[in-house]
Amino acid sequence: MKITDIFEKEGYSLSFEVFPPKTDTVFESVKAATEKIAELSPSFMSVTYGAGGGTSRYTVEIAENLRKKTNVPVLAHLTCVSSTRETVKRQIEAIKNAGIDNIMALRGDLPPQLENTDRSKWDYRYAVDLIRDIVSGGGDFCIGGACYPEIHPESPNQHEDLTHLREKVEAGCSFLTTQMFFDNNLFYNFLYKAREAGIKVPIIPGIMPITNANQVDRAIKLSGSFMPQRFKSLVDSFGGMPEAMKQAGIAYATDQIIDLFANGIKNVHVYSMNKPEVAQSICRNLSEIIRKA
Ligand code: FAD
Repeated sequence: MKITDIFEKEGYSLSFEVFPPKTDTVFESVKAATEKIAELSPSFMSVTYGAGGGTSRYTVEIAENLRKKTNVPVLAHLTCVSSTRETVKRQIEAIKNAGIDNIMALRGDLPPQLENTDRSKWDYRYAVDLIRDIVSGGGDFCIGGACYPEIHPESPNQHEDLTHLREKVEAGCSFLTTQMFFDNNLFYNFLYKAREAGIKVPIIPGIMPITNANQVDRAIKLSGSFMPQRFKSLVDSFGGMPEAMKQAGIAYATDQIIDLFANGIKNVHVYSMNKPEVAQSICRNLSEIIRKA
């Protein structure tokens, strides 16, 4: 099923992002965690992809397992930053052969170990180049792209960022998912500006439940997201009490989701971090609001 068909349905829904294992040894436990999350009947699940390509096989294996064992539509991520056209073509074929209809087309970030590698053999510069290749490959995929309410860290300003975002949509992206944010006003402002810039496709807000204090620095470093004082106070008060921090982080994410639904957003994407208990708590908190897929 294509992700864009999901947005046609009535009611409010959640989708969940999971990440593939980095090694064989944890493959089964990651697979089991993703299956547990699928039991919550999210509107879809996305499986991330390592930008270095190291876990590429696992992305498709985890996504294919979900497709075969559950009714949940699946979105396989694909990055292009250090890839050749040949490796991308093979990965797209693997996604197709796994029966997956949806690809999240990303540039990715160069892992530190590849910083000094000869880049002349790599064929891609931006996600838009990958989107064009997926479209011209003729695989009839529903293609998603990433967007940044707080501007992508490499962009000089929002105007340029939105110009390039519109190029991705014009190239064939039929929905967008945002980077995590902790202040919904940043999302509402971004949505308004994206619409003004002529970007009309569905834009799905991405919410990251922060469930332990150590996650905070990593999340900010990865995303550059602004931490509102309300959230900082929560970490200051409960960061040293793991179970209390988990409860408070889930409550904060739930609160963000309810506000998004109340302001007209129909689907929210939750960065589950492969934690079924976190996904379950959020679904329980919203049990009277969200529809089952
Ligand atoms: P692009 O769309 O290529 O944009 C990157 C930068 O280049 C932006 O600043 C943009 O404005 C600029 N730009 C774009 N086109 C041009 C142009 N023609 N000329 C000049 N500048 C241009 N990473 C992973 O490794 N694996 C994942 O599975 C993954 N999933 C993600 C899911 C979501 C929802 C999000 C928000 C991010 C995800 N990322 C993932 C991280 C992502 O790969 C990084 O944020 C990366 O830095 C940018 O990827 P992009 O696809 O947005 O790149």
